[in-house]
Formats: sequence, structure tokens, C-alpha cells
Amino acid sequence: MSENIEKHDYDVIVIGAGGAGLRAAIEARAQGKRTAIISKSLFGKAHTVMAEGGCAAAMGNVNSNDNWMVHYRDTMRGGKFLNNWRMAELHAKEAPDRVWELETYGALFDRTKDGKISQRNFGGHTYPRLAHVGDRTGLELIRTLQQKIVSLQQEDYKETGDYESNIRVFHECTITELFKADGKIAGAFAYYRSTGQFVRFDAPAVVLATGGVGKSYQVTSNSWEYTGDGHALALRAGATLINMEFLQFHPTGMVWPPSVKGILVTESVRGDGGILKNSDGKRFMFDYIPDVFKDQYATTPEEGDRWYDDPDNNRRPPELLPRDEVARAINSEVKAGRGTPHGGVYLDIASRRSKEEILKRLPSMYHQFKELADVDITAEPMEVGPTCHYVMGGVEVDPDTGMSVVPGLFAAGECSGGMHGSNRLGGNSLSDLLVFGRRAGAGASEYVDGLGGTRPAVLTDDVAEAEQRALLPFSSATEGGENPFVVHQELQKTMNDLVGIIRKADEMELALKALEDIATRTRTVSVEGARVFNPGWHLALDLRNMLLVSLCVAKAALERQESRGGHTRDDYPVMDSDWRHVLLQLSALGEDNVELVRKEQVPMRPELFDLFELDELKKYYTGEELGGHRADSA
Ligand code: FAD
Repeated sequence: MSENIEKHDYDVIVIGAGGAGLRAAIEARAQGKRTAIISKSLFGKAHTVMAEGGCAAAMGNVNSNDNWMVHYRDTMRGGKFLNNWRMAELHAKEAPDRVWELETYGALFDRTKDGKISQRNFGGHTYPRLAHVGDRTGLELIRTLQQKIVSLQQEDYKETGDYESNIRVFHECTITELFKADGKIAGAFAYYRSTGQFVRFDAPAVVLATGGVGKSYQVTSNSWEYTGDGHALALRAGATLINMEFLQFHPTGMVWPPSVKGILVTESVRGDGGILKNSDGKRFMFDYIPDVFKDQYATTPEEGDRWYDDPDNNRRPPELLPRDEVARAINSEVKAGRGTPHGGVYLDIASRRSKEEILKRLPSMYHQFKELADVDITAEPMEVGPTCHYVMGGVEVDPDTGMSVVPGLFAAGECSGGMHGSNRLGGNSLSDLLVFGRRAGAGASEYVDGLGGTRPAVLTDDVAEAEQRALLPFSSATEGGENPFVVHQELQKTMNDLVGIIRKADEMELALKALEDIATRTRTVSVEGARVFNPGWHLALDLRNMLLVSLCVAKAALERQESRGGHTRDDYPVMDSDWRHVLLQLSALGEDNVELVRKEQVPMRPELFDLFELDELKKYYTGEELGGHRADSA
């Protein structure tokens, strides 16, 4: 028997209150749409708030040689040319405006001596490019976007007498289903975490901005809410995912003590001079510069050190190679027996910068280590190792509007795919979520306008089914069934051990078998107690999503027989040009299965292709593909 379910009507609902969601909501509201922001966590608690290093935008404030073309090239190189080039183009062109716009909303970035927004170095970026606020950039970004939303609500109050007339936040409210009618989005179904009560949102446009998937892994920098909900909701609604084999293992997570294993140590530590050493005290990254990057990185410690003060006449140190390269190097050192006592390597800033400098530039890192691990990073090195950090794969969207193949379903930020190709550069996520959050909000608004007065109506049967499904873990059908916490641990271990940073066919086949078993067990998870704040129940519902996403990762990783970016195969250790233009596209096949097809990447527009030197492209492209290049046709 259905309970009387709370119901709301909106033009646009945005699922997720991180940077992508908030920016999308601001845009939808600006276009006159009644907008709801729905967040599983407390308002203000999202991954975005955890971002430390900064937001990449080619403003050229610290080095005037920087511009959108250099940023575009760096992003494509970082993604090993598998990126959706149109997204990378829009991102590089629009990021500076989005950062400036934040200052008009009230953000205050750190300054250069001459009063411009300061920009810092980061792995894979040719010039200092990350606009930042100490190492708490994400906090300032979220604070500012929230403040903007409050100011819009105040404007609305003046006109309507109701702060929430045009934009309302529902927090601690988890979406479990999307509704469709006539093949188009019609709304969504959710429960309030605190009371367990259900709520339905009727709306013709939904923007997914749910962030990442890291909670499917044992060691991760991601927090509890990153269970791949947006990815799974999109799949089940009929949308496609791409690039799911590409997960980013950030090279420097804390490895000790166990209670904080995985927590991130920002790349800014290396950007500001920190170096990596093995247990022999050797600065080992010089041994790991891949051929494709040989021209851009220093080959001696002396040159690398000079670069910090004179970047125009020296090459950058290899500690600032893209993340995938550094993570693999650390993994190899540990495997070769040159790791620290707790299975990491040493990250040393203490011997390189003064205490005052470290405290000024890296205050959160200082506190994180001091308070959580009793390590004084101004006096001793940190122990660090790779941690599952970011998913490059996500909902396949139209680059300009953010719409998926399902009419009315949009995605932006970490839960969308394509922009970062096989590997994301640090700092490119905060800029991505601003650029594409705005675009998705605009795309959703335009879509709603295009519907005219007719809106797909949510079907009563679909609501009843969503309710039944959400209650399944309490039902007699699953009574005495599996414990969700145990099944979750099993899933995390499977993904960590068998589809982790270095992958092999036989291990991934084992993983797929294990996932079949986990799927059966997930169907029968049962929970006790009531619906009022019941973490076991919440996890039981999240598991369904984590399972589907893990299947996508494992299937795609097994299919891609090469190593590229975040995907490293022990059995196919090199990058293969024939795979560069192949995208692996996934769609749902029933409740807990997925179908994978190969899809050709659309060739880059000629004027963008010509931004690269032919010699560089030869490292990635097949001879046939290079035919149209200016140098080749000259
Ligand atoms: P998030 O900020 O992750 O927000 C997702 C939102 O979706 C949350 O509100 C969540 O509650 C909600 N949600 C999820 N599922 C549901 C559901 N079912 N129903 C309702 N709501 C739901 N990137 C950079 O560019 N620079 C950096 O310096 C940087 N540092 C980082 C440091 C750390 C420690 C971490 C973890 C990441 C860092 N990143 C950085 C990456 C970056 O922070 C994230 O990729 C980015 O913030 C993701 O933003 P988002 O808006 O897509 O999602």
C-alpha cells in the first residue's frame, strides 16, 4: 500500500549540490526556471569542498604566455588524446570567465604581488594555471556558489514574499530513481535520510551532478556519498556511459595511519617544491619519464630545482608528470621493495621549503598530518601512495548542452564523461564543473522551453514501483538475507585487488565472476530497524548503484587491450594508436548487467588538430589519421 508521498513540481531538478550542481542551478534559475537542488549530504558538504589545489584556467596572470590553446593542448596530452575534444576546447576557452565570474559572486582568490588572481603550478600544466585560495580552494568555491544562491533567494523574496519560490534546496535527500514518460524525463524519487520518508519531484528536466564512484574501492580519497548514483541512475534511465575503464589513482594519498588511509595529499605539495623519495633516499621520478614526455621534463635534479624560480629557461621536475605516470612510478618502487614501512614512498617538502612557507601555502596539509597522523610536515617527510580519486568515465553527453541520449536528462561535473579522456589533469575538475555546470543548466532550461506547455507526466505505477524497490531491504522476501556492510566490503576488495591500478585479463575475469556473485547477494541484502536515519538501509540502496558502476569499470577495463592514462594493463603494457580513437560505450541490460559496444571517436576539428606539432601527434595517432595535418599536407 503506497504511503501519501510528499510531492513537488519544478522546471529543473539538479541532483547534487557540489560545484557542478550549484552552478547548473544558478544558471537554470537565471533563465527563469523554477529549480530544485537535491543533495544526499548536508548542503555544503560535497567533494568540491574538499578540493585543495585549485581551479585551472588559462588567465595568464603569472605567466603571460598562457592562453586557451596551451591549456587545450595540455588537457588533450594529459588525457592521451582520447578526450572529447569539443569539451576540452569549450573548457579551455571558458574557464577564465567562469573564475572571474566567481569573484563577481564574492569569491576572493589569492593574489599576485600586482593584485591579479594568483595561479600555481600543477602536474601536466605548462604554466602556473591554478587559481587558488591557499589549499582550501574548493571551500571558497562552494561558499561562493552557496552565497550566490542565497542572494538569488533574497531577490526572489523581494518579488514573491517567498525565499524558495524559484530555487529551493532539499538536503540529506537521496534520489533513488528517475521517472520517464513517453521516453522523456518526467521526474525523480527520493527519501529523506533523517526520517526515511519518501518524496517525489515532478520535472521535465533533470541535471545529474552527483560526482564520483570511489566508494567501490577500498583505498580512496572519496567520501561516503560517492557511490556512483548519477552514473547508475543515468544507465537505468537508458543513457550511455563512456570511458569507464579510466579511473584516476591519485599518486599521493596518506598511507598511514590506517584510519586515514587514502585521504588526499594535494599535488600542490609537489607544485610547491615537494619531492618523492624511496626508502634508499633516492629521488626516483627521474627514472620514470616516459618517452612521450621526455622533451618537457628535466632530466637532472638541478634543472628540476631551477625550474621553480626560472620556468622559462628550465624544464619542470618529473614529480609534476601527469598523475597516472606518478602513481605507476610509486607503485613500481613499492613493488621493487623500495617502499616505506607502510607500503608507500616519502613525500618531502620539509627539507625543501621553510616552515613559514609551508604553513602559508599548505595550511590544511599541515593540520591534516599533524592532527590525524601526528606528523609535522615542516620537519619530516610524509608517507604516501596511490588512492582511488577520480573517475574520468561518466554519462555520455552532448558537449555544448550537457544532454544525454535521454531527452531531458543532463549531466555535468565528475559524473559526466569525455572531457578528461583517459586521465584528468589536476585542477581541471573545478574548472570543468563550472564550465559544464553552467552549460547543463542552460541546456536544461532551453530544453524545457522547447517543450512548450506539454510536460511528460509521472506514472503512478512507477512511483509505487520505486517505493517498493526502496523498501525491499526491509521486506520479508529478504529477511535474514545478506548484511549490506559485508557485501560492500566484498565489492570494495574485489575492485581494489582485481580491477585496481595495474590490471590483468585473468584477474578482471575473476572480478567479473565475483561481481556476479555480489549481484546475487545484493539482491537479498536485508536491514533491521526503522526508516529513521538507518545507515544500513542507505548503504543497501547505494550498493545497487556501486555494483552497476563496478560492472561497467570491470567490463570496459577487460575490453581495452592497451595501457593509457588511468588504465594500466600488465598484459598490454603499451599505448596502442589503434585504440586511441575507440570509445567503450556502456548501456544497461536489465537490473544488474551492462552491454558494451565499441564506438569511434569523432576526429578533431582541423584547426584544433593543427595546434599540435606533427611529431607529437605521431606518438598517439595512426599514420592514416595524420593525413590531414597542416605539416603533413604542406
Ligand atoms: P561533488 O562535489 O562530488 O558533489 C556531488 C553531490 O552529489 C553531493 O552534493 C552529493 O551529496 C550529491 N549526491 C550524490 N548522489 C546523490 C543522490 N543519489 N541523490 C542526491 N544527491 C546525491 N579537483 C580540482 O580541480 N582541483 C583540486 O584541487 C581538487 N582537489 C581534490 C581533493 C580531494 C580530497 C578530492 C576528493 C577531490 C579533489 N578534486 C580536485 C576533484 C574535485 O573536487 C571533484 O571532482 C569535483 O569537486 C566534483 O564536483 P561535482 O560537482 O561533480 O560533484
